[in-house]
Amino acid sequence: MESLRTGCCVVGGGPAGVMLGYLLARAGIKVTVLEKHGDFFRDFRGDTVHPSTLDIMHELGLLDGLLQLPHQRVTSVSARIGDFDFEAADFRLVPARCKFVALMPQWEFLNFLSERAKRFDGFELRLQHEATGLIRDGQRIAGVEARSPAGPLEIEADLVVACDGRHSTMRQSARLSVQEFGVPIDVLWFRISRQPHDPEQVLGNINYGKALILINRGDYFQAGLIIRKGTLEQIKAEGIAAFRQNIAQIAPYLRDRVGEIEDWDQLKLLTVQINRLRRWHLPGLLCIGDAAHAMSPAGGVGINLAIQDAVAAANILALPLRAGQITDLILKRVQQRREFPTRVTQFLQVNAHKALNAVFKTNGPIQAPWQLKVFDALPGRKWIVGYIVGVGVRPEHVADAERMRIPRLERAAIRFGAAIGAIIKTARLLRTA
Ligand SMILES: Cc1cc2nc3c(=O)[nH]c(=O)nc-3n(C[C@H](O)[C@H](O)[C@H](O)COP(=O)(O)OP(=O)(O)OC[C@H]3O[C@@H](n4cnc5c(N)ncnc54)[C@H](O)[C@@H]3O)c2cc1C
Repeated sequence: MESLRTGCCVVGGGPAGVMLGYLLARAGIKVTVLEKHGDFFRDFRGDTVHPSTLDIMHELGLLDGLLQLPHQRVTSVSARIGDFDFEAADFRLVPARCKFVALMPQWEFLNFLSERAKRFDGFELRLQHEATGLIRDGQRIAGVEARSPAGPLEIEADLVVACDGRHSTMRQSARLSVQEFGVPIDVLWFRISRQPHDPEQVLGNINYGKALILINRGDYFQAGLIIRKGTLEQIKAEGIAAFRQNIAQIAPYLRDRVGEIEDWDQLKLLTVQINRLRRWHLPGLLCIGDAAHAMSPAGGVGINLAIQDAVAAANILALPLRAGQITDLILKRVQQRREFPTRVTQFLQVNAHKALNAVFKTNGPIQAPWQLKVFDALPGRKWIVGYIVGVGVRPEHVADAERMRIPRLERAAIRFGAAIGAIIKTARLLRTA
């Protein structure tokens, strides 16, 4: 069996894992990212790059290169509820460098970031490497077991960071306890072509007991039909013609194109979950991104939160990792930093779902509730929502690799501990020589 040693083993090459790998390698740490797939080119998993993520790319000097990739810019988000048009959020005043959400396929973003990360000596991306379990050394997690096309391997690490998404194998192996928040909906994602005269920024269409998300991707819409949880089989039983009819009823301008949906294989079910770990860490193990907190697609904030987690984690962990001084207290600090934004965002998502649940109560044409009309009339409301969605709670910034975000005294203690460790190591080497 192959075995290797690394400073930090990151499990999962999604937005959280690749960003964390980039940042730690940039800070001079040996980092190995394991991704079970052979590439990043997979089904639609959300294409949103938010203003606060774009700020991070700017801080890393990567923004101009990223924006050279094909993308669309969303400056506002609208919804049509019955006959009522409602501008839900506007990003044009967010205090960020880019006052828009960039839409680009997630694989483009991940390819771009991982290619740049390869410029750092310490960065290693191992595709087709699936982590299967944790290696324990007493109470401490000391690495991961993985399988690759070449066979099984063991990776020893000072720290394992689970970035393996909502079905995280690592958090299951660690038996970390998950708090679930019931979600009444699932989303069926599919593509449908877009004509130049179709609405540009309309995102939500709610009517006839249904809700349809339409994301403008140039010559096509990334469409998501929100369905009641667990009703996919019933929808399938009604047949594809009924499904097409549902889409045409809610967005009549798609009537001439619904025939493009020929097969259920063209649809991908997103089982919507909202959950979070009570404790994000064990000695030697930290969970971030969806592995620590699965987000609903409401607001399209899951990618942004995963990236913000990675930035916060790198800011806190880089120095102790370099010094070989990772303690549980340091890992706890990452959770403390990121739990508050996660809680606030999930609270808002849970309440958005409750409001959406009311949509399913009628099958006929719906009227926008008066509360929504009052809310719509509030001055500055769309800018505030734009800020919450586009920037989010407690946006992170990349810290200088030398001045990580830990108190000065603790930084000094880490450096002192590292110096003592180095002296002991050298003394041992001299004794054996
Ligand atoms: C259909 C769909 C639509 C979505 N739409 C949006 C959207 O519009 N906007 C938005 O912000 N969010 C959206 N999301 C959510 C968003 O994708 C996640 O919140 C975000 O990707 C979380 O990032 P992550 O890095 O934590 O995890 P993930 O992106 O889930 O990445 C986890 C990675 O780990 C890998 N992996 C898993 N297990 C292992 C293992 N054992 N060993 C090695 N590798 C492993 C996976 O292959 C994957 O690449 C959507 C999700 C889905 C499924």
